[in-house]
Amino acid sequence: MSDPSKQTDNEQTPEPDNAQTENESVDQSQLNPKKRIKRSWVLFSVLVLLVVLLTMRDDLRQNAIESSENAVRYVAFDILGWSPRDIFIWRLRVTGLLDSPLGQRWAEAVDLAGEQPVQAGRQYRTTEFFASDEVEAHVYQVTLERGEKLIWEFSRLDSAESRLYASLERREKNAQEWSTVTELDADDSTNSQVVSKAGDYRIVLQPELFASAEYLLAMANGGSLSFPVEGAAQREIGSFFGVDRDGGARKHHGVDIFAEKGTPVTAVIDGYVRTGTSARGGEHVWLSGSMIGFGSARYYYAHLDSFAVESGDRVKRGDILGYVGNTGNAITTPPHLHFGIYSGGPVDPAPFLKPEPELPD
Ligand SMILES: [Zn+2]
Repeated sequence: MSDPSKQTDNEQTPEPDNAQTENESVDQSQLNPKKRIKRSWVLFSVLVLLVVLLTMRDDLRQNAIESSENAVRYVAFDILGWSPRDIFIWRLRVTGLLDSPLGQRWAEAVDLAGEQPVQAGRQYRTTEFFASDEVEAHVYQVTLERGEKLIWEFSRLDSAESRLYASLERREKNAQEWSTVTELDADDSTNSQVVSKAGDYRIVLQPELFASAEYLLAMANGGSLSFPVEGAAQREIGSFFGVDRDGGARKHHGVDIFAEKGTPVTAVIDGYVRTGTSARGGEHVWLSGSMIGFGSARYYYAHLDSFAVESGDRVKRGDILGYVGNTGNAITTPPHLHFGIYSGGPVDPAPFLKPEPELPD
């Protein structure tokens, strides 16, 4: 494990430092008063020089402002959980603007827009504009299940220096409070978030007070895994998660994907495999993101006709693991892949296997 070694490193570093501080304090006590006064003057001069430099040199000042702003952002966001927008609200409060009617309207704009959000559906794309004399926010909302994936592209179309606050937020189904999942950076890349908790998700956009902004937002959602049977799709799922098995004695902990005997089944992630044979699953494969199967979801492929991998093999997403069959307790049913996902218990694979999201043009 890497953690303990890190700790030893950390423990070792302070020692020499402490030793030095002790030495210095010893030195200082031995200094005569004249030397001590001289040293104070040197320190004072350095400080004055620094202040002068920061006042004269614009670039240095800019750097200083930026790094202090970064420090504030780090403390606020990473330690207190404040978003850049929260910091702006705090600034409005400090300057007394928050209590003005305008400040109030700005602070309430997201709640107001959130009452009638744009329903983004499976795919959405828009270019929008905020005018500097209006106090508005824009909200785009979708409802997502565990295993779905939200992708988006967000970029500024104007070149103003003003801030445009943008965040992805989430709330539990039927809950009131929204919490920030991540801040959105305005760039040209495609970003994504795999949904580990079902709920409502929304992208919230708001420029700072008196600022105008123009932006492009494209978003889409769909499955987060590739389909595990070659040439097949969601419509081939013939038996869903949670239905009764053995006359109600147990539940179906996966989905059955029907395909012709011998159709390749493929890895849904990069990972490691273990093969096995059992009365219920027949010839089966376990796929896991880590070698020991700990800390990662495990994917179960059952009723295979034959294997294309061996236990311990490392595979890439899309690699063939084996071939569809009807071994195990599927011996009397048509050939199909029983596909299961286990992550702290069985999870419904269907949302994971929806067509993967694609941003609209
Ligand atoms: Zn099944």
